[in-house]
Amino acid sequence: MSDNNQYEEICHMCRRSEQNAGKMFHLPNQICVCEDCMKKTMSAMSRFGFAPMPEMSHDELQTLIDGAQAFQMPQSPDGMPDFLQTAQNGEEGGGETVEPDPEDAQKKPKQSPFGNGFPNISFLNMGDLQGLMGGGQKVKRRKPDEEKVPIIDIKDIPQPHKLKEMLDEYVVGQEHAKKVISVAVYNHYKRLAAECMKDEEFPDSLKSVEIEKSNMLMIGPTGCGKTYLVRTLAKLLNVPLAIADATSLTEAGYIGDDIESVVSKLLAAADNDVDRAESGIIFVDEIDKIAKKKNTNSRDVSGESVQQGMLKLLEGAEVEVPVGAGSKNAMVPLTTINTKNILFICGGAFPDLDEIIKQRLRKQTSIGFNAELKDSLDKRKDILNEVTVEDIKKYGMIPEFVGRMPIIFALQGLGEEMLVDILTKPKNAIIKQYRKLLSLDEVDLHFTDEALLEVAKKAMEKDTGARALRSIIEDLMLDIMYEIPKDDNIGKVTITADYILGKGGPVIEMRGN
Ligand code: ADP
Repeated sequence: MSDNNQYEEICHMCRRSEQNAGKMFHLPNQICVCEDCMKKTMSAMSRFGFAPMPEMSHDELQTLIDGAQAFQMPQSPDGMPDFLQTAQNGEEGGGETVEPDPEDAQKKPKQSPFGNGFPNISFLNMGDLQGLMGGGQKVKRRKPDEEKVPIIDIKDIPQPHKLKEMLDEYVVGQEHAKKVISVAVYNHYKRLAAECMKDEEFPDSLKSVEIEKSNMLMIGPTGCGKTYLVRTLAKLLNVPLAIADATSLTEAGYIGDDIESVVSKLLAAADNDVDRAESGIIFVDEIDKIAKKKNTNSRDVSGESVQQGMLKLLEGAEVEVPVGAGSKNAMVPLTTINTKNILFICGGAFPDLDEIIKQRLRKQTSIGFNAELKDSLDKRKDILNEVTVEDIKKYGMIPEFVGRMPIIFALQGLGEEMLVDILTKPKNAIIKQYRKLLSLDEVDLHFTDEALLEVAKKAMEKDTGARALRSIIEDLMLDIMYEIPKDDNIGKVTITADYILGKGGPVIEMRGN
């Protein structure tokens, strides 16, 4: 099948795809209309006194449309089909007409079903709508159920330990999170593979067992690698990923993105391939921002109601999403996506959640014998690991929402040592990137251990986790990247702690020393 054949057209009137609506008629400007809509339009036109629609096959009607474009009423420069142009002009017979070929005339009915235009009715200029109407938007043809194959072959899904090893190359620390996510994603794609298998391939006792989806909730301070973890995972597995921000979501009908827009982002990430999108990953960041608002009298359109709206997506529902646009409007074709097999991962910083956890733990310990543990609670850094469903509910997430997130885990805030590792160890570590850039000028870049620690300290002050590292290093390297290429004799640059603290310059060594 040619690549082009894998994509199907969408009717611009009813927005059904070719698979649902049948073969399309092609109008100018890559506009397609299905047979039903074409016939409905024509019979509506006959009510205005135009010749009734003669019984014609699809091909005959298409020939007629093509013929109308070709000579009867030539297409205007703005691309408007001529029969509409005629109507717009309001002229009897309008426009230039070319005498039809007598042979053709025999084949076609004498009177065009388009008649001679609508008197006193002005039509939209279809040429202006090109682009708006998404003329070229197509979705990839859906495979019939029996031909469906999982997007990752069961043999190709890396086992959790391999997946974690792969993640280790990119993500520093966060051992527990990497382990949990590796297992969950492995199970998720095995579940999809199992769905495509026949019942006979399983032992009798397991035949009708349905494996439930493992949506995840990640908790961790900003800049600790939540998004990076998911992004890396999707890249390693080569599955489509959409990242959405819960703060921009509002209940449908209010200003902001409606909830289903996250699914259309995923469709775009999957190159409009519905089958791939249906097995992709959606990451919703800042999920804590849609916690129930306390003591509010106004309508909570961006909090609890967004959680409510997300329930059906998390569970699995058929949603109509616009193809090639962020929001639905009359001009954008729609397609249906089932979210049953989409893996949802939500992430949030949940500030002050630690207090809720501590409160709960304190209550428990004061009842038991281990009251002495109470004080040590305050000192614990990994307190978020103790999170339970109850704590999340207390924070303001509705029980139905939390119930659809069976896997909850926490990431650690990054300490100085981890920040130093992030600077140097991952595969694409930022310092490695600068070293590579300077190596093209045949200059060796080196950071002393003390310098790295100072960078980490500076980043800690900003309190945005690893996010601060990039901007600090970029500021720092600007002068170096500007000055060093000036002098061909420079062979090595060493960045010292003094340079970071603004007390001195970098140590420069000449070539051949
Ligand atoms: P958040 O937790 O707020 O989603 P991000 O995942 O967006 O944070 O992290 C911002 C950037 O910091 C990432 O693009 C990545 O380069 C870096 N980073 C954060 N945490 C780690 C980590 N544990 N290992 C490696 N890089 C990290």
